[in-house]
Amino acid sequence: MLMTRQRRPMIRTVRGWAISVLQDAGAIRECEEHGWMQERADPHARDKALEIASQDPAAGLSPDQAVAEIWDVLESIGDTCPDCSPEAG
Ligand SMILES: [Zn+2]
Repeated sequence: MLMTRQRRPMIRTVRGWAISVLQDAGAIRECEEHGWMQERADPHARDKALEIASQDPAAGLSPDQAVAEIWDVLESIGDTCPDCSPEAG
């Protein structure tokens, strides 16, 4: 029995969903060399991601929870790739 009717890619975790929303909005990007997520410090892109999250939250989330998850991911992502930047300090 095939269950492939949904066109959207399966997103395994709420965190993965939040990351994909942020990437779509351009608020974060992946380091091409190392694959780390970097925040782009772009307030417009961030607002857009928050708007998307509140209008189209991940399955099972309320808009408030979705927005909170976006913030949570943003707070956990630095604005530089740890492997590109010389060590902190
Ligand atoms: Zn890097």
